[in-house]
Amino acid sequence: MKIVKITPHGFCAGVIGALKTALSLEGRVYCLHELVHNELVVADLKKRGFRFVENVDEVPEGETVLFSAHGVAPQVRERALARKLKVVDATCPFVRKVHEDARRYAQAGKFVYVIGKPDHVEVKGILGEINNPQSPLPKAIAVVSQTTMNSDRVAEIVAELKKTHEVETAAQVCNATKLRQDAVRNFEGDALLVLGSANSSNTRELGEVAKCAKVFRAGTIEEVKALDLTGVEVLGVTSGASTPENFYEEAINVLADR
Ligand code: SF4
Repeated sequence: MKIVKITPHGFCAGVIGALKTALSLEGRVYCLHELVHNELVVADLKKRGFRFVENVDEVPEGETVLFSAHGVAPQVRERALARKLKVVDATCPFVRKVHEDARRYAQAGKFVYVIGKPDHVEVKGILGEINNPQSPLPKAIAVVSQTTMNSDRVAEIVAELKKTHEVETAAQVCNATKLRQDAVRNFEGDALLVLGSANSSNTRELGEVAKCAKVFRAGTIEEVKALDLTGVEVLGVTSGASTPENFYEEAINVLADR
């Protein structure tokens, strides 16, 4: 089996920045949600003493809360400050830009259409910026997007909306997502392995955009070892934007030994 390393892959600038922020902190830190969606990174942070919570109300008053790379709704920030928490914000600048776009549209009285997965923490944060009326979609709308969607799908949805609505749009995935997806789209082997956690949106989308007959995902070395690669001749290997490079290299070595 031939193994092809697909580039670019792995850590993006937003994840590197979030980790740098986290590791610069001293004392007890409560991270709101997973800092980035990767089980290995979260396990490492836990070993270093970070605590993880799903709600700012779980953080004792006066303690430090770290907002994850995915950002938070303004109401969450207000709640944290009202509870006198020390707020450290590791929101990726590209996510922050989506918040700014959504807020600007909302403040201009526009209906903001969000392309994204409703249960994703990034989308929940963006939705906190807007206050759309419940009733039907108006003729004129403004569109924003979760940063880690399938870039082709985002373009298709915007094109569809333009057929029936007056659309003002800032919807696009971040550059890191686009470059990693394009590299996978250009890969022509018969199978793709995406290294990353199951709850990582950009990891899942890398599998979605692949043109290969078979797509595998593994988040740990044990999962890499358990893959059934029978019949695979050319395996491309990529990784999500929150997947550590040492895991990627270890996985490549395990695959090469098979
Ligand atoms: S995938 Fe994009 S939006 Fe998400 S952390 Fe990385 S650079 Fe930021």
